[in-house]
Amino acid sequence: MKKAHKIRIYPNVRQETQFQKTFGCVRFYWNFLLDQRITNYKMKKENEHYQEDKTTYAGLKKQEEFSWLKEVEAQPLSQVNMDLNKAYKNTFNSKFGFPTFKSKKYSKKSYRTAVGMKLSGRYFYVSKVGWVNMAEELRFKGKLMNVTISQSKSGKYFATFLVDAENFQKAPITEVIGLDLGLTHFCITSAGKKIDNHQFYRSLEQRLIREQRKLSKRLEVAKKHNRKLDECRNYQKQKVKVARIHEKISNQRSDFLHQLSSKLTDENQIVCIEDLNVKGLVKNHTLAKSISDVSWSEFVRQLEYKSNWKGRILIKIDRFFPSSQICSSCGHNDGKKELHIREWLCSNCGSIHDRDINASINIKTEGLSGLA
Ligand SMILES: [Zn+2]
Repeated sequence: MKKAHKIRIYPNVRQETQFQKTFGCVRFYWNFLLDQRITNYKMKKENEHYQEDKTTYAGLKKQEEFSWLKEVEAQPLSQVNMDLNKAYKNTFNSKFGFPTFKSKKYSKKSYRTAVGMKLSGRYFYVSKVGWVNMAEELRFKGKLMNVTISQSKSGKYFATFLVDAENFQKAPITEVIGLDLGLTHFCITSAGKKIDNHQFYRSLEQRLIREQRKLSKRLEVAKKHNRKLDECRNYQKQKVKVARIHEKISNQRSDFLHQLSSKLTDENQIVCIEDLNVKGLVKNHTLAKSISDVSWSEFVRQLEYKSNWKGRILIKIDRFFPSSQICSSCGHNDGKKELHIREWLCSNCGSIHDRDINASINIKTEGLSGLA
């Protein structure tokens, strides 16, 4: 079972330079190969006897003007070749379309290598770079397949390890839980628990608004004085600041989701959820709301693969199932409930329901009924 773990790394100055060089070479080589293919294709169309240019990395680095390619590890460059082949193959059946050239300014800084890696505690080794310090140990045991080194917009470095990991199967248990996506909470469980995720970004939201405002002011100043953005140090500094806050929000969200999805798939044999079409959810322009929307689809994805690892079952209920209208005590459909109604009384049996907890119990019941 292949698993990925992304870890922050702390290269020293020399290692950082080496990473930057490799990012640059990988980008150059991608553009070189893409250009070669396009040229070959055009020339061949015009003249079928055209001798295709088949220069590769090995040939390039022998040429004086490209001798700087020798300074970096060769493996990432052969990975580029594989990636480009894949991109070509996927052109017609993926959403990415025809491969494009990578710009120095906008393309993602990353490279992948699959040989010569070693791990020891909180250090990992890559060829031509040496031992690099990591923020934490690798989560999975197993065969290391490859590692991708990348740099975020805010300038941080990361290593993403792909591991062919050992078995994660767990002994079956009898617990079952239903989950409802809430408006006031991230989710509500059929066990009556309301799980909040709002606390962590409320303060960050304020900071983000403040720093973004500063950023746009600096943009205005730069425009007014007709200066190039690359040369405006204050603008660039502020841009990094904003990127850092975005990163912080996304890290905290990711931790929260991983902890919750791990706990739920540890403690339950069956997890029942509503199969929501997140794109179709009501558009709401607060950050809080957009975060829970994005989080929900990521959360479902995590529940899905973690259930698979552990031998658990994830059941998705049709999103048109009226989970908030049915009385979980007697099964009576009590009709549509407006969003502001948080509590209601069943007109058939007189039970009083918390809207969300009742819904999650219905989701659980409905999920189990499909199994029988
Ligand atoms: Zn009832």
